[in-house]
Amino acid sequence: MKPAAFDYVRVRSVREAVDLLAAKDDAKILAGGQSLTPMLNLRLARSQLLIDIKRAEGLRSLAADDSVVAIGVGWTHAEIEDGVFEDPTRGLMRHVARGIAYRAVRNRGTIGGSLAHADPAADWVSTMAVLGATLVCEGAGGKRRHVAADSFLQGAFLTQLASDEVLVAVEVPRLSAQARWGYYKICRKAGEFAHALGAVIHDPARNICRIVVGATDGPPKLLPGTAAALAADPMSEALDGLDQEIIAALPEHEPAARRLHATAVRRAIAAMSTRMDH
Ligand SMILES: Cc1cc2nc3c(=O)[nH]c(=O)nc-3n(C[C@H](O)[C@H](O)[C@H](O)COP(=O)(O)OP(=O)(O)OC[C@H]3O[C@@H](n4cnc5c(N)ncnc54)[C@H](O)[C@@H]3O)c2cc1C
Repeated sequence: MKPAAFDYVRVRSVREAVDLLAAKDDAKILAGGQSLTPMLNLRLARSQLLIDIKRAEGLRSLAADDSVVAIGVGWTHAEIEDGVFEDPTRGLMRHVARGIAYRAVRNRGTIGGSLAHADPAADWVSTMAVLGATLVCEGAGGKRRHVAADSFLQGAFLTQLASDEVLVAVEVPRLSAQARWGYYKICRKAGEFAHALGAVIHDPARNICRIVVGATDGPPKLLPGTAAALAADPMSEALDGLDQEIIAALPEHEPAARRLHATAVRRAIAAMSTRMDH
């Protein structure tokens, strides 16, 4: 199918994009186009105006200090995979990028587009939640808002972004040299969207242990009880309370789906335990 007719504008600044979003009700940002263009083609989405931000100033920025790296949303999955800039997460972001779709999609798809699109099964959604990252949204008059990544999604394809805001950066906390991580997505073919996803970070030097279960049909869920048990005994893979915590976190899910999610989390923890080099 072909998309319904639309106008196209390539903007040079975020401010220009925000002004256009405010002026037109159904205007949409176009980043890598890897999710939006198939939806337009299938007429699952419609827009009279596409605002292409690929060349907007400042969206391929990097600003680092000792504890956080602010990554502009315009970096592609492929650039992250290739290590074009230093990975503040000791390899987690490169690992995640490598597992997204296939190279042609990764060449164009952006980290910001993935987060703003808010598919619950998307890799960056769960990754940024487990990292405790912060998303930076810019609205009218250049006003910026900071939103915790683990509360950015309000539901499937629904975020805290206002209709006239652009996601401009992701502030990713640095992991320490002692940190370890595990990431496991269950899908039928390599590079597919996950059916279930587990992600874990243990950074004793920063007193952080976080576990996320993702690809849940809604926002990723933190599992604080299991994370506390893991922090108390990092070599433990038993984690007796995990199944109960998954039931509480995913009350609407069928038992088989919950088992799949629990398996993804267990495998992420196991991957972390064997990954002593990170
Ligand atoms: C075959 C295939 C397989 C895939 N497999 C995976 C997978 O395994 N894992 C995975 O995570 N993803 C997967 N994807 C999705 C891919 O990661 C996309 O790159 C991503 O979802 C969208 O990024 P984009 O830059 O292309 O955004 P676009 O498609 O351009 O935009 C997506 C949406 O976000 C909005 N948007 C984009 N940028 C901003 C911004 N800065 N501020 C506000 N709104 C914005 C747009 O208006 C649009 O609604 C797959 C895609 C394809 C086609």
